[in-house]
Amino acid sequence: MPTEPETEYDETLGNKFVFVTGGVMSGLGKGITAASTGRLLSNAGFDVTAVKVDPYLNVDAGTMNPFQHGEVYVLKDGGEVDLDLGNYERFLDIDMTSKHNVTTGKVYQSVIEKERSGDYLGKTVQVIPHVTNDIKRRIREVAEGSDVCLIEVGGTVGDIEGMPYLEALRQFAHEEDEDDILFVHVTLVPYSKNGEQKTKPTQHSVKELRSIGLQPDVLVGRADDPLDPKTKEKIALFCDVPTDAVFSNPDVPDIYQVPLVVEDEGLDEYVMDRLDLSDRALPKSERHNEWRDLVTQEQSGSVDVALVGKYGLEDAYLSIYESLKHAGLAHNVNVNTEWIHAEELADGHDGQLDGMDAVVVPGGFGSRGTEGKMEAIRYARENGVPYLGLCLGFQLAVVEYARNVLGLEGAHSAELDEETPHPVIDILPEQQGVDDMGGTMRLGAHDTDIEEDSLAHRVYGDTTCTERHRHRYEVNPEYIDDLESAGLRFSGKSGRRMEILELADHPYFFGTQFHPEFRSRPGRASPPFVGLLGAALDLQEEARDEEIRA
Ligand code: GLN
Repeated sequence: MPTEPETEYDETLGNKFVFVTGGVMSGLGKGITAASTGRLLSNAGFDVTAVKVDPYLNVDAGTMNPFQHGEVYVLKDGGEVDLDLGNYERFLDIDMTSKHNVTTGKVYQSVIEKERSGDYLGKTVQVIPHVTNDIKRRIREVAEGSDVCLIEVGGTVGDIEGMPYLEALRQFAHEEDEDDILFVHVTLVPYSKNGEQKTKPTQHSVKELRSIGLQPDVLVGRADDPLDPKTKEKIALFCDVPTDAVFSNPDVPDIYQVPLVVEDEGLDEYVMDRLDLSDRALPKSERHNEWRDLVTQEQSGSVDVALVGKYGLEDAYLSIYESLKHAGLAHNVNVNTEWIHAEELADGHDGQLDGMDAVVVPGGFGSRGTEGKMEAIRYARENGVPYLGLCLGFQLAVVEYARNVLGLEGAHSAELDEETPHPVIDILPEQQGVDDMGGTMRLGAHDTDIEEDSLAHRVYGDTTCTERHRHRYEVNPEYIDDLESAGLRFSGKSGRRMEILELADHPYFFGTQFHPEFRSRPGRASPPFVGLLGAALDLQEEARDEEIRA
C-alpha cells in the first residue's frame, strides 16, 4: 500500500535551524546578513550550512535571464542556482549542491510526481500538508549532519508566493525544541526628511509575520547608519522582542565587511546564546579571525580591469567581480572593475580600453555584443594587455584568432552564426538535437589535464584542475591542428575537449572553457584571476622601472 512518506520526522536530529525572512522590500541583503552570521558561527567552531528558498515557479535558475535576476550560479554537481548560493559558498567556504536551493518549481514537481505515481492514493493533495511537508523534508535533508542550518526565504513577507514557506516555518516551530530554532527578520529602517529613523515599516512587516503565526526572535534593521538606541527600543516595544534582540546592519563599503559589523553588534553571540550553543563555541580569544585580518589588510596599489559584457549590471557577473576582488586580496591591491558595454566597442574601441591593466570577457549566450567582445580580445592580444576569457570569452578568443591570425574569413561560433563557413566553435556532439532547455548543458565540475611547461601549469601549479562548467559549444576538433600551428596553444584538455588556451609571446593571454569564478573564495582566490592580476602588476612595475631609467 502506498505510504505517506514525509509527515513524521526523526526528532533526534541534533540540528539547529536559523530562519531568515525579509520585510518591507527585497534586495536588503538578507542573504549577506545570514551568510555573515554563518561565517561567525563557523569561526566559533560549528559546522554551518545553508538553504536558499526561492518562491518562484522555475525549477531552477538555469533558464532565467541574468539581466533580471543576476547571474546563474553553477554548483559542483551542476546545479544552476540563484546567485545567493554563491555568497553562501564564498562566506562559509563550503560546496553546496542543488538540494541547497529549494524552489516552488522543485517542490510542486515532486508533489505532482508523487500524486501521479499514487503515493497519496485516496487523498486530496493540498498545500497544507503535502506541499509544506515537502518543504520541511527538503530543509531537514540539507541540515542533516551540520550543527547549524541557515534557511533564507527569498522575497518579502506578504508575497503571495512565499505563503506556503512561511506556513512550513510555522509548523517547524512546533516540531522542534525551542532552543533548536530561531527566527531572524531583516527589515528596512528608512529615514524621514528630517533624518529620523522610521520604524513603522518594520512594525508593519512584523505584524504581517505575526498574522500568519510567526513571531521573530531577532530583528535586524538595515539602514545607512547604525540604528539609534531610541530606534532599537521602539522596534523592541512594538515588535515584542527584547531590546538586545534588535541589531543594526548599516551600509558598509564592501560586503566582506558585513561579518565584522555583525560581530561588533554581537549578533553571533546572541544567536549562539538563544540556540544554547555558547558552551560549545570556541572561546572568543581562540577564534582566530582570519576573515577580519584578510578584509582589513592595508592595500598597496591598484589594478584597473575592463569587464566587457553585454549586461551593464553588477549582479549579472557577480562571481567574476568577486573573484577579481579575491585575487586583489591575494596580491594586496585594490581592483577597480570597469563595466564596459560590449556593443559600444563594436566600431573601434573608442579609447575605452586605453589605460586598462587587464581585460576580461565573461561567459554569455546569444550574439548581442559579440563583435565588441572580439574587438576587446583583439586589442588585448595585439597590445600585450593581460586577458582572461571565460567560457564564451574563451570561445571568442578562438574565433578572433581564427579570423585575424589564421585568416579564416567569417570564422565564428555555430551558436552565433549558423551559416559560418568556418565553425571553429561548434556544438558538443552530445548536445546535438537536445531541445529541452532545463539543466541539459555540459554542467558542473569536470577534470582538466594540464600540460607541463605551460602558462596554465604555472597558474595552477599542478597538472590537473577541477572546475565548473556550463556550456553547449566547444572548440571544433577539425580546426585544432590549424589553430595550434598558428600559435594558439591548448594547454588544458578534458579528453578530446579543449579546456584552456594560451599564447606564447604575450604577458598573459588565458582562456578557459570552464568557469573558474565559481570556485573562488576570499581566502582562496581562483588561480586564473590571481595570474591575471599578477601579470598586470608585473607590467605596472616594468613601466615604472622604464620611467625611472628614462
Ligand atoms: N554560449 C556558449 C556555450 O553554450 C558559452 C556558454 C557560457 O559562456 N557559459 O557554449
